[in-house]
Amino acid sequence: MSPVAQVAHAPTSELIRDAEASLMYVVTRPSQVMVRGKGCYLWDADDRKYLDFIGGWAVTSLGHCPPALVRAINNQAKTLINASPALYNEPMIRLAKLLTDNSCLDKVFFGSTGAEVNEGAVKLARKWGAKHKHGAFEVITTWNSFHGRTLAMMSATGKQHWDELFEPKVPGFKRVPFNDLKAMRQAITPQTCAIMVEPIQGEGGVWVGTKSYLQGLRQLCDEHNILLILDEVQTGVGRTGTLWAYEQYGIEPDVMTLAKGLGGGFPVAALLAKDKFCVFEAGDQGGTYCAQPLAMVAGHAVVSEVIRKKIATKAKNRGAYLRRRLKALEGEYGLSNVRGKGLLVAVDLPQENGPQVVQACFNAGLLINAPVPKSVRFMPPLTVSRAEVDEMLDIFTGVLRKLG
Ligand code: PLP
Repeated sequence: MSPVAQVAHAPTSELIRDAEASLMYVVTRPSQVMVRGKGCYLWDADDRKYLDFIGGWAVTSLGHCPPALVRAINNQAKTLINASPALYNEPMIRLAKLLTDNSCLDKVFFGSTGAEVNEGAVKLARKWGAKHKHGAFEVITTWNSFHGRTLAMMSATGKQHWDELFEPKVPGFKRVPFNDLKAMRQAITPQTCAIMVEPIQGEGGVWVGTKSYLQGLRQLCDEHNILLILDEVQTGVGRTGTLWAYEQYGIEPDVMTLAKGLGGGFPVAALLAKDKFCVFEAGDQGGTYCAQPLAMVAGHAVVSEVIRKKIATKAKNRGAYLRRRLKALEGEYGLSNVRGKGLLVAVDLPQENGPQVVQACFNAGLLINAPVPKSVRFMPPLTVSRAEVDEMLDIFTGVLRKLG
């Protein structure tokens, strides 16, 4: 018996038939339907249990249905679900204070998704360029980056194969190789208003920005009087072993974006900036659901729990254990290039068969992800136990043995 109460639902075959008939196709999903979760585990409609090392796509910071998050959402739902984006609500003020008290940034705008707040960051940088840098508007990003799926963020993202999609793209973005300071320096022109990077490229395959690179970017931005925007949508809220990844680089960004782990599964995102760059005027930025109370209490519950229980440090130690164990398995399974920080970890496979490995793991009750065919990525809840890491590796290596 699973420890989580079963819920009534239709048979899987019926659900999949209805899904195929009524959901717009955007991705190929397995023919199972997830119905509940607890901690590091999910259960499907046939009561099959999955060990979840995808974590809702680096989202479930505290695991599935953590009591603190459930309590916060339940209590708020009984009090005030939605006021209006044009009115203050108490949870929005409390979360803004929590984030600014615990980061180097001064002010926050709240949205619902990473793409939305990244787009907000670009708007802020362009507005600042218009006001203070003779109309500079260009933002330099990096190849292999991922910043979201709105049209502007697809233009900012460094995925070559996206370049032909949905033309024409939004102008004003230039891409250069990641971890290449010289290329970044050469790309800066009088039209540049900002550099936007992920400290660790997550969707691109978990490529860690080096300390000298991030410090060099900080210096370049200071020299040229342009903004350093850190997209911490995937790396923020303890994922990499500190509350924010930038802390490990000895630098401070001018602007930082958060989403994913911030709400622990509830959609909430934040655009944070230093006072000096907060140049929006009334009407420049907003949205019906910005700073929506349920999202605000979710974010507050997650961040305060991460801070109070020192979960970032736990993620750092657990991640080090996972990387150590993967490293020890390299020779036997032809794995290589174990990389990452905290609980954002990837490893290269002996062949470019990531999707096949992911499918075989799914069949064996383990959720992992292959961001590129050569690599698999692990991004479990930050609360994952050592025993769960061991269980994951048993299933993963069993699959590698079977696939040869
Ligand atoms: N930025 C980074 C670094 C991401 O990893 C993602 C999503 O994977 C996004 C932005 C987009 O976030 P969302 O899917 O919430 O729009």
